[in-house]
Amino acid sequence: MQVTANGLVIREKILSNDNRLLTILTDECGLVRAFVKSVKKLGGSLAAATDLFTYSSFVLFSNKEQYSVNSAESIQIFYHLRDDLEKTALASYMGQLAEELAPQGEQAEEYLRLFLNSLYLLEQNKRTVDFIKPLFELRMLTLAGYMPDLVGCQNCGEYYDADGFYFFPTAGRILCSDCAGEIPPQGSIPLTKAQLAAMRHIIYSESNRVFQFKMSAEGLQNLGRITEFYLLNQLGKTLSTLDFYHSLREMTLSLQPQLQSQQPLQEQPQPQQ
Ligand SMILES: [Zn+2]
Repeated sequence: MQVTANGLVIREKILSNDNRLLTILTDECGLVRAFVKSVKKLGGSLAAATDLFTYSSFVLFSNKEQYSVNSAESIQIFYHLRDDLEKTALASYMGQLAEELAPQGEQAEEYLRLFLNSLYLLEQNKRTVDFIKPLFELRMLTLAGYMPDLVGCQNCGEYYDADGFYFFPTAGRILCSDCAGEIPPQGSIPLTKAQLAAMRHIIYSESNRVFQFKMSAEGLQNLGRITEFYLLNQLGKTLSTLDFYHSLREMTLSLQPQLQSQQPLQEQPQPQQ
């Protein structure tokens, strides 16, 4: 049986004789694993269309629940993504997350759109890795049915609380500071107003508006810790690509003060002794 679908290659596994097994996130059939013959036999444009993180139109042949790529034509190639190791590592993590959360054998257009938009904004330097990571994690979980309930306090229903809320990553709920009392409840994470607003935006906004919010670089890093903690709680396991992404990101962050110190210093008021 022949199937036509548009999809993004999110993982590739090299098999013997240069044959590959691709994981493709498609609009019509969700996740598809498809074999593709040796690149040497395929020729240039077809080889490019089946490359990792390429969005292509595929003609697949299915035989006893096994797919193979019959032909493919690239729609969008994210060339410059590969120039940046951090972005590539984040894309790999996003791929593993999609493999965990996206459906198989059913429509997955929203997942695909989220992934493609994220790659585009990363590649074009329109959003940073620190912006995309928490957004992708939380939105992906929401699409897959793990949406936390952030509408209001789980006890009294309070929506707006000047003193902030506590987030429970296991239950996916929030508690206002009045209900929580003086001591932070066990297993909870305190949320600032900005963090809660960003999380609400990510899960409740329309897909064409989800990338439209602003937060400081430090704020995004903290948000990323919270969304990741929630994600790992919900999945009940860690992901190898996430560990790799962190090792790269931590290296960059540790080098940043050195890089900054090489820039000409701006005059700053000295503290009085
Ligand atoms: Zn309350």
